[in-house]
Amino acid sequence: MTPLDRTRRQIQHVAAGLLHSRHVDLVLGYRKAGFPLRTRPVLISQPSGTAALVWSSFCSVNLAVYLPALVPTDSGPEPGQPQVVAVLAKPCDARCVLALSRQGVVARDRVFLVVVRCPGIIDWRKVEDALGGAEVLGAGEDAGGNLHVVVEDGSDVKLPRWTLEDETCGGCRDRGPADADLTIDLADLGSAPQGDSPLPSRVPGRARLALDQGGMSRCILCRACDRVCPFGTGNGRKPTDGPGAGEADAQAYHLARVARTAGLCCACGACARLCPSGIDPRPPLGGEARATG
Ligand code: SF4
Ligand code: SF4
Repeated sequence: MTPLDRTRRQIQHVAAGLLHSRHVDLVLGYRKAGFPLRTRPVLISQPSGTAALVWSSFCSVNLAVYLPALVPTDSGPEPGQPQVVAVLAKPCDARCVLALSRQGVVARDRVFLVVVRCPGIIDWRKVEDALGGAEVLGAGEDAGGNLHVVVEDGSDVKLPRWTLEDETCGGCRDRGPADADLTIDLADLGSAPQGDSPLPSRVPGRARLALDQGGMSRCILCRACDRVCPFGTGNGRKPTDGPGAGEADAQAYHLARVARTAGLCCACGACARLCPSGIDPRPPLGGEARATG
């Protein structure tokens, strides 16, 4: 059994126990997606449903984004709404949950925070690049966290984990649990062999946000970075949108985003992973600075 398998079993056991004892009404975690290299968020209300929970290097969505709707502070639970929700969170997601609670957006006493030590997220773009565009039919991680992929011709390819890690995880200095109600440990996986450097990749590095107008030329103002962010406008905050898609509009949008997320951003990288233009839209003073707090 691999460390990730053990963690998955622990998570399922903890979630089933919390639901069975009525300590919580809902568990928010990740389940397998129908496609390789993906997981998707799931809400579970019955102990029997917890067998679907997984933990892998593809748990990339920041689960904190759902909590303002599930456990808001501005109203108690409506009839039929959950009283307490358990969240199976990565440390960066947990930092967002705590920041949302400090902001008065999420009711901390209605969240049971289970923090799972994070192995780092694998960047599926790097996997695609390493495979030269071959279609992935299936994938899994071994005991060292290395990726085993079955590609379209049926062959099995092993990819070293340390060549695939998402660059937004690289600056994270806090993969241990933040302030939590319960923590689940997981050993470090697959660091780079000494003296070795990553294989050259054709995947272009993401450009950190530059708020001058030239730096905005790649932004298409899709606002995907806002939608996936726990501090985005979807959570009842003032909209920051402008009607157009020119550089000045993009600049105004990002200035407002930075003002809203600076000091709160937990460096989860969810916005960077989703940006179609290869921008890392984390606020300049957010990311790494918040990764310890
Ligand atoms: S700005 Fe990006 S990295 Fe920061 S909390 Fe929001 S989604 Fe995560
Ligand atoms: S996701 Fe990327 S392209 Fe879309 S608004 Fe954000 S920075 Fe711009």
